Amino acid sequence: MMTLSTYSTLARILTADDPLAVQIERCLHVVRTDLPDLDVQITVWGHGQQRVWSTSDDVLWDATRTAQVARRRQPLIFDQQATLLPTSLSLPAPRLEPPSERSYMGLPVLWEGRLWAVLEAQRVGPFTSGERTLLLNLSPLLATAVGEEQWGRLARPSGTNDLELPAQRAIDQLAQTLESPLELASLLDVVLREAMHATKASSGAINLMDYEHEEYSLAHSIGFPAQPGASGERNAWPLAVGVVGRVARTGKATLLTDTSHGPEWASPQADVRAELVIPIHGPQQVLAVLVLATTREPVFTTEDLYAAQSIADLATKPLQRALEYQALIEVRTQLQQTLESLPLGLALLDGEGRLLRTNPAWFQHWHIDPRRSGDLQYVPWDMLPLLLSRLSHPLELSDFFAECQSHPQKTFETTMRLQEPDQDIRLRSSPVLDAHSTPNGRLVMIEDITREREIDKMKNEFVSVVSHELRTPLTSILGYTELLLARDFPPVERQEFIQTVYDQANQLSKMVDDLLSLSRLDAGQIKLSRWVVSLHQIIAEITRQLNETLSARHRLLIDIPANIPPIYADKDKIRQILTNLLSNAIKYSPDGGQVALFVRELRTPPPDAPNLPKERAVLIAVRDQGLGIAPADLPNVFNRFFRVDNSNTRKIGGTGLGLSITKALVELHGGRIWVTSTVGKGSTFWLTLPIATELARRS
Ligand code: ADP
Repeated sequence: MMTLSTYSTLARILTADDPLAVQIERCLHVVRTDLPDLDVQITVWGHGQQRVWSTSDDVLWDATRTAQVARRRQPLIFDQQATLLPTSLSLPAPRLEPPSERSYMGLPVLWEGRLWAVLEAQRVGPFTSGERTLLLNLSPLLATAVGEEQWGRLARPSGTNDLELPAQRAIDQLAQTLESPLELASLLDVVLREAMHATKASSGAINLMDYEHEEYSLAHSIGFPAQPGASGERNAWPLAVGVVGRVARTGKATLLTDTSHGPEWASPQADVRAELVIPIHGPQQVLAVLVLATTREPVFTTEDLYAAQSIADLATKPLQRALEYQALIEVRTQLQQTLESLPLGLALLDGEGRLLRTNPAWFQHWHIDPRRSGDLQYVPWDMLPLLLSRLSHPLELSDFFAECQSHPQKTFETTMRLQEPDQDIRLRSSPVLDAHSTPNGRLVMIEDITREREIDKMKNEFVSVVSHELRTPLTSILGYTELLLARDFPPVERQEFIQTVYDQANQLSKMVDDLLSLSRLDAGQIKLSRWVVSLHQIIAEITRQLNETLSARHRLLIDIPANIPPIYADKDKIRQILTNLLSNAIKYSPDGGQVALFVRELRTPPPDAPNLPKERAVLIAVRDQGLGIAPADLPNVFNRFFRVDNSNTRKIGGTGLGLSITKALVELHGGRIWVTSTVGKGSTFWLTLPIATELARRS
């Protein structure tokens, strides 16, 4: 009983690396065991001799039949049921009745149009269909094995091909095409198309081997339902799996004529009749495996196998070249992307300081237009004219590079301050070594450390401000409570002391609140609970509180139209914003004057307004007639811990936190805040807040 496993055993034996004699002996042994009714004889010509192997010495073989098959190169069959043979084979009509009851089949084993062997079989009674299939499929496998004995592996040095091959001309042309360097995708396409054309395959695919990951992947296919990478499938399989894996491991081409069976040959197309699986060899390992499939009759022949292998062999060098090129391109692209996205500026200089390469961050950090980079040959000399206005000490930069040049082996580092815009930078220059470890250039890095510096500065300021500001109220609280504990004071005086302690404790508590608000704002923990809010109501509440603390020198003016639309806001936060601005206005007008609060619906932005959001908004202005803020200090008033430092303000207590909190809260509402001021005349703080429209409420 012929089974698929018999066929795969035979296929394995005939594609193994053993000598032909051993392969044939093993095959016959398998036939003896698995198909005991069948007698098989194999006659091989080559190397000037004829060799004959058979399953049994007891069976008589008619040498004239063998000669007939060899001469005609056509199958010769005597079988009671010869009509059942596949119609694809152009079989001669059944001959005269054989002398015995035995059926006979003789098949030529052809290789490139030449006859190398004859495979014969006999049995009592008709051949079973399994036996017929086996014998027909065994013939091309034998052809491969015999062919390999003749020439070693199918690859032959070019020029020794004196055989007639229908695809030979196409192959010669292909060789020329492949001479020119091709990138991987085009190369795979050319090779696959040529191989399909030469073998009349209906579909084909090329798999690339990845030995590092022990897998192979579909790199290109034509005519298969699934395209590489289509539908997000992963087109990669372990090397240990399937006939492609086997061909990659053994390096031997395989012709499969019974692809409808067996898991190893599972084909994505159900109607595939035969497959050619061809290795493309590299210097050590198989680089790729070509799979050619046909759905047509007649199925592939050994000539097709040879033609496909010849094409595959031609592809070896170009494929190796294309794969190496591809790998280089990938490494280069990765490196380039890394350098381009690096926030660090890099410049590669030769021994004379000539600029060889830079990344985009290099010119960005210097604030030099990259279009001018063509004029910049020597670093830093050609850059100096462009940087002069930014350097407070131009010699600093040239000295640094001069020092680097006089000590080519050493690494140097320095920090510098640039102006317009203000920027702190760190420069580091380290030697670049050639293959003999001799320095032949430098790699210079520029890093923007402005933010780092600012954070350092802020930390220092924070510690000094907080320790000072907390200490002041604490000192007076401690002083007064100590007094109160030590002695009895008359009630009026005691009341005064207690009031001072209370005020100072309040101040402390406010400061701690500010610090907490700030850290929660930084951590993004402050969430607004927004409602439709009437500004009338909030302002009424605030003025009531303020009026209680207002000295006689200040006048509070509130100007809010009755029809002002409600805003969409967090009531408590709006109260905090307005209280901060109004109490600053009072605090920074020590000589008194008017403190005014205007509310209008925003129609045209005031002259000094920044870019304002397009939504409908109200405009609020808090105006005082106090100290004012000098133009140089104006941009900083919203920075945390910033306090204007002059003889007037020094007397006024504060932390420099109020306005930074106010700004963060306004912006959290989607509003903007800014300030205009004239020293000695007073300041106006402006802010916008979104009106409660249907849209705003729903978002
Ligand atoms: P604080 O008032 O606690 O110092 P702020 O953040 O509220 O902190 O204000 C920062 C700085 O801005 C103040 O120190 C002050 O110099 C200045 N400033 C704020 N508001 C006014 C104002 N209305 N008039 C003049 N200067 C002001």
